[in-house]
Amino acid sequence: MKETETQFDESSSKIEARFLELGVKVQASEIKTKLDQLINKYKVPPEEARRNVINYFLKKHNIPKAQFFTPRETQQVKVSDIKEDGKWVTLRCKVVKLWETNQESISQVGLLGDDSGVIKFTKWAKAALPPVEEGKSYILKNVITSEWQGQFSVKLNKTSEIVPIEEDIEVGSTPIEFSGAIVDVQSGSGLIKRCPECNRALVKGACGEHGKVDGIYDLRVKAVMDDGEKVQDILLNREITEGLTGITLDKAREMATEALDQTVVLDMIKSKIIGRYYIATGSRLDRFILVESIKQDTKPLEESISKLLATAKPAAQEA
Ligand SMILES: [Zn+2]
Repeated sequence: MKETETQFDESSSKIEARFLELGVKVQASEIKTKLDQLINKYKVPPEEARRNVINYFLKKHNIPKAQFFTPRETQQVKVSDIKEDGKWVTLRCKVVKLWETNQESISQVGLLGDDSGVIKFTKWAKAALPPVEEGKSYILKNVITSEWQGQFSVKLNKTSEIVPIEEDIEVGSTPIEFSGAIVDVQSGSGLIKRCPECNRALVKGACGEHGKVDGIYDLRVKAVMDDGEKVQDILLNREITEGLTGITLDKAREMATEALDQTVVLDMIKSKIIGRYYIATGSRLDRFILVESIKQDTKPLEESISKLLATAKPAAQEA
């Protein structure tokens, strides 16, 4: 069997990635050329050719064979320990949230967490790893940390490994609160359909990975809050959306069926919440607050008046 271009690319970048883990930069193109020569010109069986090429670079960089072939166990860390860019780590965590991705190079993106906090993760399509599921716990071996504009994330690539575990890992992070007016409800809010396989929101009835599927209805809100100084993106799941808007998933489906248009749900949600003041509490996830509770905010004026009254006449509360 003749090795195809893709197989060369794959083997080459695997070898390159493993060397990189050991701190040595070997050009994938150089590996590829050598593989091609051995396999296609000298008819060396692919496995043997790979071994040969690896050995060549091991010798060149003075790395013991055992070090290369024994998979290195990277240090297991807590999410909150991640404070450095480009470090290989192992995480014991739960997938908290999966987001939709329109980028072909990314197979899954979302949030994972442990008892110390949550962090964004990106799984490259090229890594060819099995999908992870929301709410399930895993040991993620050999993931690499990454930093962008002060925000940390982890990436799953070819050298990473996903080990599902039975244990339900508890996710904790310091809850944050944001008070302000909801100034926008973004598209992709309201009644949506999700892929039954990967839970991603469908676009025009199709999943980015699984194509045309029979979607499952869900309700959510992606909104922007403004406190007069800064803006904050918030994300509301079905339960919180139902509580906030009074529109249940069943009701939303009914509305959409009657109108033959699911944007009626989005319009209704907008009319109910835009321009109103809320206090949202939840955990920070990337640029979002994953809202765990949201309540209407009494006007700041009322608040300060009642505070004044409370301090002026503390006895009045007892009466
Ligand atoms: Zn899917």
